[in-house]
Amino acid sequence: MSNVLVTGGAGYIGSHACKALRAAGFTPVTYDNLVTGWKDAVKFGPFEQGELSDRARLDAVFAQYEPVAVMHFAALSQVGEAMSEPGRYWRNNVEGSLTLIEAATAAGCLNFVFSSTCATYGEHDNVVLDEGTPQEPLNAYGASKRAVEDILRDFGAAYGLKHVIFRYFNVAGADPEGEVGEHHRPETHLIPVMLEAIDGTRPALTINGTDYDTPDGTCVRDYVHVMDLVDAHVLGLKWLQDGKESRVFNLGTGDGFSVREVIDASRAVTNREVPYSEGPRRAGDATKLVSGSTRAAAELGWTPERSTMPQMIADAWRWHQNGHYEG
Ligand code: UDP
Repeated sequence: MSNVLVTGGAGYIGSHACKALRAAGFTPVTYDNLVTGWKDAVKFGPFEQGELSDRARLDAVFAQYEPVAVMHFAALSQVGEAMSEPGRYWRNNVEGSLTLIEAATAAGCLNFVFSSTCATYGEHDNVVLDEGTPQEPLNAYGASKRAVEDILRDFGAAYGLKHVIFRYFNVAGADPEGEVGEHHRPETHLIPVMLEAIDGTRPALTINGTDYDTPDGTCVRDYVHVMDLVDAHVLGLKWLQDGKESRVFNLGTGDGFSVREVIDASRAVTNREVPYSEGPRRAGDATKLVSGSTRAAAELGWTPERSTMPQMIADAWRWHQNGHYEG
């Protein structure tokens, strides 16, 4: 079976990608430093612990496994943290990715699937966000991801490295079979934070700003189920293996949900109250991020199957109640 090097394979999205790769007949080789990931989440292939910045270690892993492609998930990914600690984001996400990209190129592993983000777009009033929208990130997280996109383009031109870049909108839900799920310490993302408020693990959810120019004053996001998201990655890998050109794809559903709408949906799905309070805006947040692209559907044949809000919350809630990692 063909090996695929999955950086961040012990993290939320990476672990689901490993499951999807395995199901598609690949062997996912997880490369992760376990700073935010969990060894318990590595269930579908070999595990190699290491830093993105460790070129010698990366070279040894490429030599041992001879992967046909890299899927690069490993990154710091919190907007709030990126605003207060930008240096960590540039060092880890950009310098680390550059080292990985150089190692992959030197090893002759020229198919590269990259996790980028809608945060690279920034604030665009009344503009449909598609892959051609100018990238004007509002925070160091988005800026660091945009920089890696640029590195991939330059390495494509210079060395023939082929890429598929996925710009994710907001990823939610969990493996419906319960093998893997979302587990951050501390948790900052809206849906899992809300589930912690619902079950009393935390006192309440704080809504980050209620004075945005949206119908109910709270930020609007486009949520996509993690299983659908990782299916797109397998399609992206096959795209590269078929010899097609480097390409960027938005991964979102095109439906926007405000924070208040997500709270309402969670109340309906869990049949429990959602304790919340209203707080100030979070620095770096765009008002509205909703995909306006059908490119992934049209070109990759991607059809999201679980990305309804009730399904994403139900799957996240099941994992929240039944699943966890020890280490
Ligand atoms: N959010 C919130 N309270 C929280 C966590 C998030 O109001 O405890 C808001 C956040 O400001 C944003 C939306 O929910 O408008 C989604 O945030 P998340 O951190 O889940 O993802 P992001 O959009 O930053 O990738």
